[in-house]
Amino acid sequence: MPALAEVAREKLHALDVNAQRRVLQATRAMGGVRVERGGQSLISFSSNDYLGMAMDARVIEAAREAAARYGAGAGASRLVTGNHPLYASLEARLAAWKGTEAALVFGSGYLANLGIISALMGRGDLVLADRLVHACLIDGARVSGAKLARFAHNDVDDCRRLLAAQRSAHRHCLIVTDEIFSMHGDAAPMEALSVLAREYDAWLLGDGAHSLKPVPGADLKMGTLSKALGSYGGYVCGERDVIDYLTSAARSFIFTTGLPPAVIGAADKALEIVMSEPGLADAPVVKARLFTDLAGLPQAVSPIVPVVLGDEARALAASRQLVDAGYLVSAIRPPTVPEGTSRLRFAFSALHADEDIEAVAGIVRREGWGL
Ligand SMILES: *Cc1c(COP(=O)(O)O)cnc(C)c1O
Repeated sequence: MPALAEVAREKLHALDVNAQRRVLQATRAMGGVRVERGGQSLISFSSNDYLGMAMDARVIEAAREAAARYGAGAGASRLVTGNHPLYASLEARLAAWKGTEAALVFGSGYLANLGIISALMGRGDLVLADRLVHACLIDGARVSGAKLARFAHNDVDDCRRLLAAQRSAHRHCLIVTDEIFSMHGDAAPMEALSVLAREYDAWLLGDGAHSLKPVPGADLKMGTLSKALGSYGGYVCGERDVIDYLTSAARSFIFTTGLPPAVIGAADKALEIVMSEPGLADAPVVKARLFTDLAGLPQAVSPIVPVVLGDEARALAASRQLVDAGYLVSAIRPPTVPEGTSRLRFAFSALHADEDIEAVAGIVRREGWGL
């Protein structure tokens, strides 16, 4: 048998051949949208901290207070002794924000989707997922043992076709979609999917990881505390009985330690700010639209704007060129996106200065990227 490291080297080589190896780079947040990487100061268009909450002084102070009061770590799973008092406040606020009866906080968005889908679905059930949904929805469906089928991206008719062909042969059916697609920036037709779900006696799970405002339509409204709320953790909002069941059945909820108090304190403060300043959530899309207008791209509908370049090497070269100009914009490659659609992913924050947006848009337009 070959040595483990030898097998790893072979596998790394295969990734290198396709420019698909991933490496970690230390990146230091310097305040606002500025980061430092490799000694270079850069304006970042690569963070999902859309509202600037991760560096907000009020949010940092809430984290500090929570740690001082309740300690650095939760010490056990939430069902044992890790359910510190801050959870109740955050879950009540999340449910009020999304307009549901109840909410449940998980260790992360990834763990939330893994646990929700595998607790509710099983063998003999059907999960229908948009072709471009986030990997953790697919992993949740796989772990559940349900039959998984994919419909064409944002194609309600294709979803209807799958329901017509397969719904009756299965017990329960769950349709899953990102509300805003994380690498695409477009919005799912939640209203139409919700009507379709009713028609075929199916449930709808909306992944709102990149939604800045509550989106109506889904029976289960899942989200993350780690993006617009600037902290860490995941959650699901829904009916009281569903939440109670998930509390007892979602394995990724039960068999993991509760989040540190500072993390929950920060998320709770950030959500309080977002709910009390309704205009704040609009700012990132306004910034994204300035960019798409200036770069000659289709108008943004979310804070995420992809500039598709094709192969991995081309996307990496474009990302390096932007770094040289002082801008951090990630190159996103397979398997995160489909083969041949490697891209630059611009994520806009309420904190971006218009001059920086004008500068990157100028580069994109000059290079003819995304056309
Ligand atoms: C980031 C993301 C997740 C996972 O959330 P984490 O809290 O980072 O684990 C789930 N779904 C989508 C669409 C995401 O973009």
